[in-house]
Amino acid sequence: MDALLTEDERAILASVDGFASRHLPPDEVRRRDREHQPPYDLLPAMGEAGFFALPVPDDHGGLGRSWREVALVQERLGWHGYMAASIYNRVVGFGVMSVLTYGSPAQKRDLLPGLLSGSFFMALALTEPGAGSDAGALKTRARRTAGGYVISGSKIWISDAEGARFLLTAARTGDAAKGSDGITLFLVPSDAPGVTLSPLAKVGNNAMPSFEVGFADVEVGDDAVIGEVGGGFRHLMSTLHYSRASMAATVTGAAQAALDGVMSHARERQQFGKPIGSFQVLAHRLADLQTRVDLSRLMVRHLATLIARGLPCKREAAQAKVVATETLRDVADQGMQIMASAGYAADSDIQRFWRDSRLYTFGEGTNEILRDGMARELGLTGRQPS
Ligand SMILES: Cc1cc2nc3c(=O)[nH]c(=O)nc-3n(C[C@H](O)[C@H](O)[C@H](O)COP(=O)(O)OP(=O)(O)OC[C@H]3O[C@@H](n4cnc5c(N)ncnc54)[C@H](O)[C@@H]3O)c2cc1C
Repeated sequence: MDALLTEDERAILASVDGFASRHLPPDEVRRRDREHQPPYDLLPAMGEAGFFALPVPDDHGGLGRSWREVALVQERLGWHGYMAASIYNRVVGFGVMSVLTYGSPAQKRDLLPGLLSGSFFMALALTEPGAGSDAGALKTRARRTAGGYVISGSKIWISDAEGARFLLTAARTGDAAKGSDGITLFLVPSDAPGVTLSPLAKVGNNAMPSFEVGFADVEVGDDAVIGEVGGGFRHLMSTLHYSRASMAATVTGAAQAALDGVMSHARERQQFGKPIGSFQVLAHRLADLQTRVDLSRLMVRHLATLIARGLPCKREAAQAKVVATETLRDVADQGMQIMASAGYAADSDIQRFWRDSRLYTFGEGTNEILRDGMARELGLTGRQPS
């Protein structure tokens, strides 16, 4: 499939490979996972390589390149190590694209240089203990004061909250007790007085720490508001396709990496005097899995072209996310079966993919809710949760 890439696109992939060989070889990926060490220290090197500047127009200090190139960086970083791709996506998806899409001119001027150089990043603080899929039911409040707002409430499962300079926080400023109206987005410094971060233990994605975040009367100025007051939910929806495209690209890379490892084991491991991959039942299973990874890649690249051309792509973004995340889940699950005891060993790569992959079918919008959205776009159902 890479045969169809342009020279510029190949150069981007070579640049990601160079970055990964210096900073994230396989043993380093394993070490960071084992030691729960996030890759925040790699952000400046990614910034220097120009990865964050790809989708940003030159008049904002970017490289003015296409989202197709962003998707290639995401896919290849996902192949080398999901941890690096996830932090890249956080900078580009939640940071750069949010500021570009609904930030004020002053926020663009103040925030984009640091984001593009990899000096800092933002975490998205949307989910609450009582508001997961039904994000519009969030209860965190931002009360108006003379010079700004006072935020109180709590968020849960906020990835990388501790390393982030800002928490892109959704809080209720309107009268409505529930519903997506009257939600406003704030850039809350993660070290602001009143913000508390409590780490959460979890199954996988060890190098992407998750936090419960408390807001106890956190004071912020008017300049902390990003986008329109009351328009926060609409703003989040307007950038969702970026984060779904990012996840789809990344997990496609991860699925290829997982499958490459399983294939190589299937070629080498001998039983009954033959490589196990030559038994038809396994050979066909592996061929099917590679077909599904290729299908994910096609959907990811098609979606990237739609984004690059500014065309509508809500359904395609949901479809790519669903197909790619379920492909990785099945590659990891079937891969474990094919590798058997070698995969079940604590230091195998497939066990890491297996643990990590369970998140992606419900992170960034559960696949059930995404299918609801697709069905609605197809005119099959009426108004459903988005
Ligand atoms: C490791 C990790 C990292 C995360 N990172 C972040 C982050 O950085 N920022 C952030 O804001 N959030 C984050 N999240 C939260 C994540 O986005 C939510 O877990 C997700 O939105 C689902 O919410 P929930 O877990 O509360 O599930 P629920 O909403 O309780 O859903 C449970 C099940 O019910 C199904 N369901 C719910 N409603 C419907 C319906 N109407 N129709 C059919 N099925 C339905 C769901 O599909 C799901 O299968 C993270 C979560 C995890 C575990």
